[in-house]
Order: sequence, then structure tokens, then C-alpha cells
Amino acid sequence: MTTSLVTGGAGFLGSHLCERLIAEGHHVICVDNFLTGRPRNIAHLEGRPDFRLIEHDVSQSFEVKEPVDYVLHFASPASPIDYLELPIQTLKVGSLGTHNALGVAKAKGARLLLASTSEVYGDPLVHPQPETYWGNVNPVGPRGVYDEAKRFAEAMVMAYHRFHGIETRIVRIFNTYGPRMRPRDGRVVPAFIQQALTGEPLTVFGDGSQTRSFCYVDDLVEGIFRLLMSDRSDPTNIGNPSEMTILQFAEHILKLTGGDSVIEHRDLPIDDPKTRQPDITMARKHLGWEPRVALDEGLAKTIAYFRELLTHQV
Ligand code: NAD
Ligand code: UDP
Repeated sequence: MTTSLVTGGAGFLGSHLCERLIAEGHHVICVDNFLTGRPRNIAHLEGRPDFRLIEHDVSQSFEVKEPVDYVLHFASPASPIDYLELPIQTLKVGSLGTHNALGVAKAKGARLLLASTSEVYGDPLVHPQPETYWGNVNPVGPRGVYDEAKRFAEAMVMAYHRFHGIETRIVRIFNTYGPRMRPRDGRVVPAFIQQALTGEPLTVFGDGSQTRSFCYVDDLVEGIFRLLMSDRSDPTNIGNPSEMTILQFAEHILKLTGGDSVIEHRDLPIDDPKTRQPDITMARKHLGWEPRVALDEGLAKTIAYFRELLTHQV
């Protein structure tokens, strides 16, 4: 029997990952304190013999009795408004939480995969971003709590790999979207869809010329699973290189939803990266992975999810 422990398993990405690991025949232990995740994300898994929830803050040390083969450390606030509201928790889960997850992996002889982020590149001066780029991060700006926590987490993972010889993987996740995002978590995909479906103005920050590249959750999970099973310990970008401006994205959401909301410009948040696009050469070469889900297909599924939430007022 293969057992995987997923921290942050009740979150958006974590819950999709738990499902995928169960589909691969793993027993899954989900450790989450519902700081930004929701019980409804994993409600359909509870009661299964191959799924167990431990409600716990992973910034506090923890142990599990059974053998563990894989530890996937996904616990962390991930939306800019979440980590701006939860700065200390974000720093703690990226540092102490990563240390604790590594401690479990070391004690169990398990392989650990860290959910890192394109934010380690900060406001990048190299475009698109390859893994070899060291980044342009403001450590004392408001986003520093997230960016530096993840950079520290990567350093800690590499230290455990080099010093203790544990098997580690680091995925640098670029903007990913899909069902189970919280409608009001502040990230641009749920924000624009929710606004378009309710007729509220679409809030474009700045002039909307900043770019992002959006990956559908199923593609991301496939890339993460391949990385987990690979022998690659170097950080690996997973994301969709198809890039657009935020203003173009707002107009596209209006078209797809059929909404007639107006677009309203708001102040650009401090240190908001001006461009972002993953260089996925390494994922293509080492994992044979590239995204398959077209933007409109992924957005159609996501819009349907948000419509359903609105219909049932959940
Ligand atoms: P999310 O907020 O939906 O999920 C995070 C989960 O972690 C939540 O269930 C939350 O309750 C849990 N959590 C937070 N702090 C915790 C703690 N101290 N102890 C236990 N559980 C805790 O966010 P997400 O988008 O699913 O992100 C998951 C991971 O992926 C994060 O580490 C994030 O940094 C990373 N990531 C996500 C994206 C993306 O586009 N979604 C991009 C880059 C990186
Ligand atoms: N954004 C926006 N309006 C919103 C939310 C976000 O214009 O209501 C912009 C934000 O300034 C950034 C981009 O959309 O340039 C992506 O923001 P998100 O919070 O999704 O993630 P980020 O890539 O910044 O981590």
C-alpha cells in the first residue's frame, strides 16, 4: 500500500491532488487547518477507507503513526489578499510548516514534494522565466511574506536533500485556476468570473497591461504527479505558457460569461509583477509534460462551477 500525506489537502489544489492520488491507488492523509481551505472541497472523500483528514496547523509539529511514502507540502495561503491578511501565518507555514513536513518525510523515509511558486521570481527581469533565473523579489514589501517564505522553503528542502539525503521535488506553480477556488479569494480568475456572473464591475488593477499565463488545474495536477514520480530534484516550472494581459483577460471573461459588467480600474497593488510566463522546457524534457487544456475549455468548467455556487448560494 502506498500512502501520501498532503498538507493543505482541503484547499483548491490540494483537494484535486488528493483525488488524483486516490485514483492512483494511494491512501491519502490530508492535513489541513481550514485557514483558507473549505470542508466542502473534501466532503466527497470523507468516509472513504483510503482517505483520512487530520485537522492540524502544520506550523506546529505533527506525527503520523502509519508508514508514509510521499509528503506533498501544499499548506499555505496562496491568494495575494489571503497572504496580506495572514502575513505571520504565511511566513510560519512556509518556514516552520516546511520544516515540520520535512521532519515527517525524514522520519518516514518518504519523498517530499514542495509546492513552490512563480512568485520566487518576483517582478521578473527575465521573460519568460526559466528555473535558472534567481528572481527579483522585494523582501520587505507586502508580498515579501509569501515570496520569501517560499524561497526559504526551497532552500530548506534543498538542505534536507543535500544534508540528510532525503528525496525531494520542488514544483514552481504558475497561476492555476479551476473549480474549488473560493469565489472571493481575490485572485483574478474567481474575481472576474464572480463579478461577471453577478453584474458587478470587473476590477482591473492598474491599466491592465500586466500579463499572466493561466493553467487549468487538471494539467497542473498531471505535471505534479509526473514530477513526483520522476527522479528530478531540481525546481521545475509547471504552468501554461499562453500569456495575456489582465485587460484582455477581463474582456475575455465578459465574452465567455455573456456578462455586461463594466470594467473599472483600481490601484495596482504594490510590487504586482508586470509580466509572468513560465518557460516549461524542463518539464517538457524531463517529464514529457505540457498543458493540454485550452483556456476556453478550462474557463467553461470554472464558470459552470461558479454558476452552480451562485444558484445554490453556497
Ligand atoms: P488554497 O488557499 O486553496 O489552499 C491552501 C490550503 O492550505 C488551505 O486548505 C488551507 O486551509 C491550508 N493551510 C494554510 N495554512 C495551513 C497550516 N498552517 N496548516 C494546515 N493547513 C494550512 O490555495 P491553493 O491555490 O490550493 O494553493 C496551494 C499551494 O499551492 C500553496 O502552497 C500555494 O502557495 C501553491 N501555489 C498555488 C498557485 C495557484 O495558482 N493556485 C500558484 C503558485 C503556488
Ligand atoms: N488582478 C486584477 N483584478 C483583481 C484581481 C487581480 O486586475 O480583481 C490582477 C493583479 O493585479 C495581477 C493579476 O490580476 O496583476 C493576477 O492576480 P492574482 O491575484 O490572481 O495573482 P498573482 O499572479 O498576482 O499572484
